[in-house]
Amino acid sequence: MSIDSKILQIKNTIPDSVELIAVSKKRSVNEILKAYTAGQRLFGENNALELKDKYQNLPNDIKWHMIGHLQSNKVKYIAPFVSLIHSIDSIKLLTEVNKRAEQNNRIIDCLLQIHIATETTKYGLQPNQVNEILTISKKLENINITGFMGMASYTKNKKQINNEFSQLRKIFNNYKNNNIHQLSMGMSSDYKIAIENGSNLVRIGSDIFGKHQ
Ligand SMILES: *Cc1c(COP(=O)(O)O)cnc(C)c1O
Repeated sequence: MSIDSKILQIKNTIPDSVELIAVSKKRSVNEILKAYTAGQRLFGENNALELKDKYQNLPNDIKWHMIGHLQSNKVKYIAPFVSLIHSIDSIKLLTEVNKRAEQNNRIIDCLLQIHIATETTKYGLQPNQVNEILTISKKLENINITGFMGMASYTKNKKQINNEFSQLRKIFNNYKNNNIHQLSMGMSSDYKIAIENGSNLVRIGSDIFGKHQ
């Protein structure tokens, strides 16, 4: 199936209240333009330099999301234009985003990435760090925490995935307010389970663009 029919197909299966991020990491400008032509405007990348490069080479009404692990020394490349950073996983990174946002006269929307998987390799804050980092963030004038992001374990066990997403949903429900309203959970293999658990931002790559070579 073509990229544009994939986009339309996925949009038809998710509720209107759920936003679709087309994850375009390692995809060419041409592939991204096919999704763009199908009406897609939200794209997610996981590498700061690749993101900057694509921003410069693609239409400027695209909203670019940083969804992958972000090193503090790379924030400067994306601070002028990024529309949402999903992967705040330390106070150091939060402080750096605030500094670079200020230099660009911007307020940058951010999600706190929470570690919910059993794998030790996945990044994220521990649930018991959320209070502290939210308190710190209130003093930082150029960042705006709008919600949470999490990745489930890489497993076929749907019950486990469901448990992990439901853990993050509980945290989200504890903090939800006018400002904290976004819950980013779910990729190609598990977005249906994520939506059942209240996700309103799904990050889908291979289901749109095909498997990576
Ligand atoms: C690559 C990636 C995705 C998309 O994964 P697919 O399985 O291709 O849908 C989602 N979220 C993050 C953080 C990613 O790095």
